[in-house]
Amino acid sequence: MRTTWLAGLVAGGVCALLVGGCSSGASNAPSADDGTLDPQATGEQGMHGAPEHLFLGRGEAGRPGGGSPLMTSHGGTVLPTNKTKAIFWGPKWATSWENGKIAGLDEFFTGFGGSNYAKASTEYAGTNGQVTATSTYLGHEIDTRPAPSKALSVSSAVSEACSITNNAPDPSALYLIYTETGAGHVNYCAWHSWGSCSNGAPVQVAYMPNIDGLAGCDPQDTWTPHSQGLAALANVTAHELSEAITDPRGAGWFDSSGAENGDKCAWTFNARVTLHNGSTWKLQGEWSNAAYNNNTGYPNRSGQNGCLDGACDASPATVCAGKCGSIDTCAGTTVDCGPCPYCGDGTCQANEDATSCPADCSVPTP
Ligand SMILES: [Zn+2]
Repeated sequence: MRTTWLAGLVAGGVCALLVGGCSSGASNAPSADDGTLDPQATGEQGMHGAPEHLFLGRGEAGRPGGGSPLMTSHGGTVLPTNKTKAIFWGPKWATSWENGKIAGLDEFFTGFGGSNYAKASTEYAGTNGQVTATSTYLGHEIDTRPAPSKALSVSSAVSEACSITNNAPDPSALYLIYTETGAGHVNYCAWHSWGSCSNGAPVQVAYMPNIDGLAGCDPQDTWTPHSQGLAALANVTAHELSEAITDPRGAGWFDSSGAENGDKCAWTFNARVTLHNGSTWKLQGEWSNAAYNNNTGYPNRSGQNGCLDGACDASPATVCAGKCGSIDTCAGTTVDCGPCPYCGDGTCQANEDATSCPADCSVPTP
């Protein structure tokens, strides 16, 4: 399943040169009535044994956590600090068709670094160090060449990232490719993978097809004023970015069924997320082994309490992680979650009572 993808150089290089030829030109954006995803369709996965890590749509994702729910390291690297670069591929991105998505995603990436949401992935380490919340946005680029009309293959995504960077991708970066075209009849909303440019330079990529109006990829955001399309892209972006940080090249963190930290909390939402720049979003949570072990996370779709939509700098990371209930109550405190109230801190908070938190709240006399 996790064959190492190092052969992208040849296929990738060729495709980059023939990028126009890689596209049939026909738009294949999903229409509003294409709201169900096909569990049988698998896009181009399997091509070259490609290890796209698929973010399955709402109706397609099985319940995570069969066997041990804990993720383990597979002996490889993480992205201790990361950079992000958004590539908007297709001529319509340079028109009003984009409808605020570019500015919105700029805001998302700018706010991700240093956020408590990013801290939800910092308990993991690889052979090259510990994950931190440091994330630097390299900005976006619009590639007005035609985007492929169907789902990108890993090699086409790798070649696009290599093309945009003149074969000099930052090795700590994730290149997120947003196509104006949809993926066609597939069962996923996005994926991330990795490869190498023709000169051997390693590159991490994520593919985010047009998912406007796709019910199976819709976080149903009523918590922010964002458009449906922006809300959907932000949610899948948070999922793929968190996975690329903790499992950038297939030997990082995932569970015995191959589920990464985004997969294990897919389609579960705790509370509105505030990023480091104050922007607010509806984002799925990310899996925390520590929160699961301490029963301090919120439940995934299998009822396992290991999802976090924010964590703290405090060591151990579980001092407050999850117990805040949401990133919002953690944000803004001087030392993050240090003073953050939680059930068990000895104080009966306004949102606690004898039923919800008997440890802190004395049972009222009947
Ligand atoms: Zn995933």
